[in-house]
Amino acid sequence: MNDKDLLRYGRHIMLPEIDFEGQEKLLAARVLIIGVGGLGSPVALYLAASGIGQIIIADHDKVELNNLQRQIAHDENGLGQSKVSSCANRMKQINSKINIVPLDVKLSGEQLLSQVAEVDIVVDCTDNLTTRFEINQACVTHNKWLVSAAAIRWEGQISVYHCGDKDSPCYHCCYGLGAGGSKEPEQNCSTSGVVSPVVGVMGSLQAIEVIKLILSQGDSLISRVLLFDALSMQWESMQLPKNPDCPVCGHIND
Ligand SMILES: [Zn+2]
Repeated sequence: MNDKDLLRYGRHIMLPEIDFEGQEKLLAARVLIIGVGGLGSPVALYLAASGIGQIIIADHDKVELNNLQRQIAHDENGLGQSKVSSCANRMKQINSKINIVPLDVKLSGEQLLSQVAEVDIVVDCTDNLTTRFEINQACVTHNKWLVSAAAIRWEGQISVYHCGDKDSPCYHCCYGLGAGGSKEPEQNCSTSGVVSPVVGVMGSLQAIEVIKLILSQGDSLISRVLLFDALSMQWESMQLPKNPDCPVCGHIND
């Protein structure tokens, strides 16, 4: 780190949990953010500002007017642009020193697997179950941390998964069919609506968990789900059990 870096990251460095060493770890980290909408916007902006050295952002959508109510990485100048270029531009304006890799694709199959293999942590900021299950499978395959959140109406939830830890469930353990998963028609922000800052809260929490995992500091949300109800302003934390018969992670640690 040079003098400008010390100045830029000074508020991190003065924290005993981060210090020079921790900031060096953040600068050396590689994170994949899938989806740069409501959740992905604050994740991408805070991780860029925090000095995560390499950030890969993947999204295949374009910026539309109805995104601007909550997707704060984008603005009116970006309407019609790909979300990843709009988001990457904003990230570079905040921090030109880090390496940002925009992928204007719907990450899936081999490409998803190879991108997941290259990073330390995956942040799921998507809004549909099929993609969430596929991202989970890729993270289990490559034994990567998965920081997953969701927001709808006035509510949000966030968890961290890591199947390398013996007792940690994967996303499928908790939300797959037959494991307490919902059989109701899928709901997301597009169909049910969401209060703008709720995605900001949940995305910011995802960024915090990423930073803690890189630093190996504090207690992560591994094996737990944190639920947020903005209307009642209540938080609730619940344990998430591993499903020994999970088709995705059940064979691990046998
Ligand atoms: Zn599982």
